[in-house]
Amino acid sequence: MTFYRWTLIHNGMELDSRFTAVAILGVYAVVAGLERISPLQRVPSPLLRPSFATDVGWYVTAVAVTLAFGPALEQLARWRSASAFPDLASFEIRFVLLVIAATVLYDLGATLCHMLLHRYEPLWNLHKVHHSSPVLDWLATTRAHGLEHVFRGIPTQAALFTLGFPSEAVAAAIVIYAGFATAGHSNLRLPLAGVEVLFVTPRLHRLHHVPATTNRNFGTVLTLWDRLFGHFAATTEHDDAALGVPGEVETYPQSWKSQLIEPFGRRRRVIREPHRHDLGTEQIEDGALAFEKHARDT
Ligand SMILES: [Zn+2]
Ligand SMILES: [Zn+2]
Repeated sequence: MTFYRWTLIHNGMELDSRFTAVAILGVYAVVAGLERISPLQRVPSPLLRPSFATDVGWYVTAVAVTLAFGPALEQLARWRSASAFPDLASFEIRFVLLVIAATVLYDLGATLCHMLLHRYEPLWNLHKVHHSSPVLDWLATTRAHGLEHVFRGIPTQAALFTLGFPSEAVAAAIVIYAGFATAGHSNLRLPLAGVEVLFVTPRLHRLHHVPATTNRNFGTVLTLWDRLFGHFAATTEHDDAALGVPGEVETYPQSWKSQLIEPFGRRRRVIREPHRHDLGTEQIEDGALAFEKHARDT
């Protein structure tokens, strides 16, 4: 039996966080390139569209978080493989199966984290940055507060290493996940309705960015999790709806610097101005804790 893991290492390829960062850059380049082909565009949009600088700022932030936590995760992987507990690489499992398993588990972990980001107010205030995109395209994928990247990506990767997945399988899973995330946010109109039984498509994730269906479609790769938790939606009713933070579509700040401090400023304002609690509650009801309301409405 050929083990891809060992083949890759023998070929001198070391799949680590630097490989992941470069491969994700390749994914972005492919999706950004496809978006320049007019017949494939969902809506006409120039490359340098409004808020381009904001999203470049968040892209750099995402890369910085990845590189900052890379050494700690690699250390965790080394510690795990040296521990007394057998890791998955010690079993005769084909590399491709390890990658599939790592991708499924990573998607599950990220989906659960995403649900928590919508469930609790301080996390929702962080996650509003991601929902503030007025348009979706390749660069909107990484519009997320730096602390959200820490909350969502790092523990999920750490869990995979702790379970004993080899770092090469985790790196490949993250590239696949990033591919789905970038495609899911893309401004591409593709005939993908047939795969929605299994996979998240741009149309499905766009519904997550529509205020009326914000608490639907939390997954990135598989639709399975949303079907299991009762959050799946595939309606065409909101195809032309405006995107944005529920209740704040017109008012949420759009500059990188404003968005960086907005979650904390918002918290301070609520503490200093208790009479504004009503507004906070309304916003939570509107965007974060509306599961029951959605269940009633749909
Ligand atoms: Zn969300
Ligand atoms: Zn999104």
